[in-house]
Amino acid sequence: MLKTRPPIITVLGHVDHGKTTLLDYLRKTKVQASEAGGITQHIGAYQIKYEDKPITFIDTPGHAAFNEMRQRGAQITDIVILVISAKDGVQPQTVESIKYIKEADVPCIVAINKIDLAGADPTAVKTQLTENEMVVQEYGGDVDTVEISALKGKGIDELLENVLTLAELLELKADDEVPLKAVVIESTKDQHKGPIARVIVQEGTLRLKQELIVDGIKGRVKSLVNESGQQLQTVQPGEPAEILGLNDVPEVGSIIKEANVEYPKEKELDEKQESEKSSWDDIDVDLLLGDKEKLNLIVKADVKGTLEAITQALDEETIELVDASVGLLTEGDLEMAQATNSVIVVFGQKIPAKLKKMAKLMQVPVKQYDVIYHLLEDLEEQMLKLMDPHYGEVELGRAEILQVFDFDGRKIAGIRIITGEINRHDKLYLKRDDKIIARPAITSMKHGKDSIEIVKAKGEAGLAFKNKSLDFKKGDIIVAYKKEV
Ligand code: GDP
Repeated sequence: MLKTRPPIITVLGHVDHGKTTLLDYLRKTKVQASEAGGITQHIGAYQIKYEDKPITFIDTPGHAAFNEMRQRGAQITDIVILVISAKDGVQPQTVESIKYIKEADVPCIVAINKIDLAGADPTAVKTQLTENEMVVQEYGGDVDTVEISALKGKGIDELLENVLTLAELLELKADDEVPLKAVVIESTKDQHKGPIARVIVQEGTLRLKQELIVDGIKGRVKSLVNESGQQLQTVQPGEPAEILGLNDVPEVGSIIKEANVEYPKEKELDEKQESEKSSWDDIDVDLLLGDKEKLNLIVKADVKGTLEAITQALDEETIELVDASVGLLTEGDLEMAQATNSVIVVFGQKIPAKLKKMAKLMQVPVKQYDVIYHLLEDLEEQMLKLMDPHYGEVELGRAEILQVFDFDGRKIAGIRIITGEINRHDKLYLKRDDKIIARPAITSMKHGKDSIEIVKAKGEAGLAFKNKSLDFKKGDIIVAYKKEV
């Protein structure tokens, strides 16, 4: 049965910013002491309880594990805590972490650490984060920050509360009755014990004496131990354990499965996630909105609790809730959506094929979600796109038109790069007095007599544009950009 499982947390950040200190503090103060008096041991992860809720922390050296696992397709982290020293601010490995977080699309909480030190400047950290495309809440973004001292234990409760709130939004669930999948987070060989695999169970249940297989390595579970040194009979989703009994050392990031058990095909899962992800691309929200300032929404949920959670979380400034009810999608819902120009969101249940077809015919956008957080994220993104036409644009380069001349009867712009670079095929703005006056496209880019594809820092080039009568003059600015969303 699907059950709520503990969130799995990875701590990332620059060296010496306090990752180990934070993990040590949590382990020392929040890991439940073993009744059997076992000795705490390192098994690559540990579970704490906060407000009676379990949280799993991966404490194998940060970046390598996170990236190695991700490269192998094992995305086990639900939430990243990004630790930044309030004294040193954003550093190279912080930037690298931000890149990982964005690429993996993992929710993140920033812990601004060492606030006990003289010279700590949390505000500077927030500004730097914003400069690195992690806009904190104070500046209108959605990145949560918590000020802590891992050394003194200050702010830790607030940090954990944030983790639990986010975990609740993510609605992390796993089935403990399906065939086992456990991700290897560390592995090694011990002279006496043989191969050791440290894992976190993703789904199913790991049991003593279970026959396992991972990348051709087989084995039978001889011993299961948790971070308190206790011998376990079973390990549930979201829980870490150390396994003895494999015939060889499996790689980090590999998935341990039960031997002789048939697993459902992976593809179906991917397709389902894909359908959620790409869900808004085919809707022209612009058109739906017309002159209205709010997006009309109809919500159908599987249970009352979920429905309430969704309706309470909707942003009233941008969303007009036309109707919200529990139950399967009906023809009546489609008609109501058509009449009110609404988008329908179906939650936690399938849309019958017949209604899918009908919705298409009626041109009613229907989207299906299983995770409230994803729905809210998508809605927010849509509204941001609408409110800011430049949302998601990233500037690639900027050049000034230094002179205008004629060549072969064509008007040419002689430019010099001010920042970045401009590629012949980039999307462009033509700006005058900081206002966009046109969106030209380049037909030819030359340096002297040579055709070129790109002008880099400080470089010069002559540009001809597709629109022969494009109005440009000396002093105008050309901006190259791309859309990231
Ligand atoms: P890591 O490389 O990110 O794991 O950083 P560590 O946890 O090893 O911490 C690096 C240094 O910073 C150590 O000397 C810690 O004692 C110190 N440190 C960590 N957190 C704090 C804090 O909150 N306040 C102060 N004053 N020092 C800290």
